[in-house]
Amino acid sequence: NRQITIAELPTDTLEPRHFQLTETDMPKPGEGEVLLRVILMSIDAANRSWMRGATYRDAVKAGDGMPTYAICEVMESNSPRIAKGDIVAAEATWADYTVTKAHKVQKMPKVEPLSHLMSVYGIAGKTAFHGLMSIGNPLPGETVLVSAAAGSVGGYVGQIAKALGCRVVGIAGGAEKCKWVEDELGFDACVDYREGNLSKKLAAACPNGVDIYFDNVGGKILESALNFMNERGRVVCCGAISQYDTDTPTGPRNLPGVVVVKRLRMEGFIVMDFAHDDAKCVRAMQHWVSTGQIKVFEDIVDGLENAPKALIGLLAGDNKGKRLVRVGAD
Ligand code: NDP
Repeated sequence: NRQITIAELPTDTLEPRHFQLTETDMPKPGEGEVLLRVILMSIDAANRSWMRGATYRDAVKAGDGMPTYAICEVMESNSPRIAKGDIVAAEATWADYTVTKAHKVQKMPKVEPLSHLMSVYGIAGKTAFHGLMSIGNPLPGETVLVSAAAGSVGGYVGQIAKALGCRVVGIAGGAEKCKWVEDELGFDACVDYREGNLSKKLAAACPNGVDIYFDNVGGKILESALNFMNERGRVVCCGAISQYDTDTPTGPRNLPGVVVVKRLRMEGFIVMDFAHDDAKCVRAMQHWVSTGQIKVFEDIVDGLENAPKALIGLLAGDNKGKRLVRVGAD
């Protein structure tokens, strides 16, 4: 059983040397536990923030395995609830096999491909849907601005907003990515934040201002976006990826002034807060996939050993759509 542990916690940019691949004995499930074979692991910007601590879960420490949302096959079960051969969603660690409490895993339908359980019908789609619908409250004709637009969450936010009749503007890194966001994801416009002059580009792309800003990045991009908000606009605080991989954080300098003057509402959320509405989300996403209004983009990296590179690359922006690591066959 191969496992990737944290060799050393990073203080600044994450590098391969912060991880270690080790061989361990096959774990044995105890009473009420299951042995899982990991098929797919979700690679999330959050993996990096868990290494910093001060998030919604326990900090990851040196020596720990990296926690991950995973789709797994049950190999052995000591619980009547779960059977050998079931496909489940579970919190695993970066490893070939893992043991966990049976009551913590969720039985999943055997959809094809299984990767959709992590992308459009999984954490990416749910984060986009719940954040946009429950906090953004979009109305047809409104302008929705979304950062990390070519990423997993951002791509679905924009496509859902388009399906609802909004004007959708993305922010992404590089001209090629921006063109992809417009051509493939169907955004009305996408601006490149890496090239500079973001404010000028936002002014051109959002002639009627911004009603909803779905913020995946925080920092200076949030500062610029706030300046384009319309009165009574909503800022959906989903994440702050620009702050996860650096020891020199930059916050918006226009807070709280701009929030006061424009009567803005800024609200954060964690996708699990809306678990009670997950079935509604999946039904809506299935409908939009069937009508072609939502396209599924996945970025699958093969091999457990490539998980560190996949996370480092995600933080540097080398993914389009939901990044996953395939550890074993479906
Ligand atoms: P993505 O698939 O969106 O990939 C991350 C993208 O972020 C990269 O592709 C990169 O694209 C962009 N990026 C990286 N660094 C910067 C930077 N300094 N400034 C601007 N953009 C940057 O990853 P995730 O789906 O995992 O995460 C997206 C966001 O959603 C994160 O903030 C994450 O924490 C949050 N999240 C929140 C959840 C919640 O419950 N609240 C649940 C899941 C995710 P580019 O080339 O455009 O720079």
